[in-house]
Amino acid sequence: MRQSRSLHLLRKLAGYVLFALSAPIAKEYFVDIGFVDRFVRDCRSVFLAAARVLIVFLVLHASGGCNPVGKGDPSQRRYPLRVLCTTGMIADAVRAVGGPQVEVEQLLPPGVDPHLYRPSARDKWRINAADVVFFNGLRLEGRLEPLLVRRSRWMPVFAVTDVLRRDCPERLRPLDDNSGILDPHVWLELELWIRCVDFIAECLASVDPAHAASYRQRAQLYQAELRQLDEYARSRLRAIPEERRMLVTTHDAFGYFARRYGLSVATLQGLSTVDEIDLVTMNLLIEELVARRVPAVFVENSVSPRALEAVVAGCRARGHQLKIGGMLYADCLGLPGSPGETFLGAFRHNVDTIAEALR
Ligand SMILES: [Zn+2]
Repeated sequence: MRQSRSLHLLRKLAGYVLFALSAPIAKEYFVDIGFVDRFVRDCRSVFLAAARVLIVFLVLHASGGCNPVGKGDPSQRRYPLRVLCTTGMIADAVRAVGGPQVEVEQLLPPGVDPHLYRPSARDKWRINAADVVFFNGLRLEGRLEPLLVRRSRWMPVFAVTDVLRRDCPERLRPLDDNSGILDPHVWLELELWIRCVDFIAECLASVDPAHAASYRQRAQLYQAELRQLDEYARSRLRAIPEERRMLVTTHDAFGYFARRYGLSVATLQGLSTVDEIDLVTMNLLIEELVARRVPAVFVENSVSPRALEAVVAGCRARGHQLKIGGMLYADCLGLPGSPGETFLGAFRHNVDTIAEALR
């Protein structure tokens, strides 16, 4: 009896609350001539929002939600771990460090410019379904990065450049305009990339502590290969005569590379391929190339060569026989079967191409 009276009181209270809430809404609708249209439109928004919530719930449920690798219970962990990497450079490093414990997937196909890449609905599914995700960060994956940062709140998503911001921020190249933007092309300075490889091992170990020793051991082996490559690059690029030590590409991807091997850089665009190319910059570059008698400029595998071809034509019109010195792997690796299929191969190809064209 007492229970039914309490229930009755609760219902009454709920009625008052509903009335109080609905009164202003009703007023808003019924004083408006177009209330039917607005009502239909609002119903549609509510329906779409509900559908989205349902989809997110189903995705979380299907992928294991916040506990994709059975974090709390190692016996539930399934191998190999599905590791999704944005770029080929990161995928190669994770493959080397992860060994048989990981299955690496690459989100951006070879030859695709990460600055301009727009994530598709399928990409979102792939991110949600992965056990671990690695991306570059520092705005390399311009449109993808906000999505990855959001995911990092509830699943293991790591920006490999975070370790550089943490341990050696002074080594990161800032943009000259005091905007706080940092150069994301860190894989092109092998000393920095070696630190990122350490971080990849650290991250994999945090997700899968049972194999921490194997991850660290394999990271050391890969780092030894990177050190050898660095030595090779130093010896090859040292041979370029002083007056020809100028590396010209379309966008500013080779700043770290040039710093390491004592070259100067000149580009038509800034740190991102999103930047506009203006005629003033182009004319200044042509003047400098003519004055310094620089023999070659370089196109990039993921950027249109058209602007650099205009620079070559401009130099030739002024009597300087500038040539395209070859293609460099800047922001992505090459197709299977090409010299740039692996990161080590792509880097070596870049060194050889530059050394040959500028000698
Ligand atoms: Zn770039």
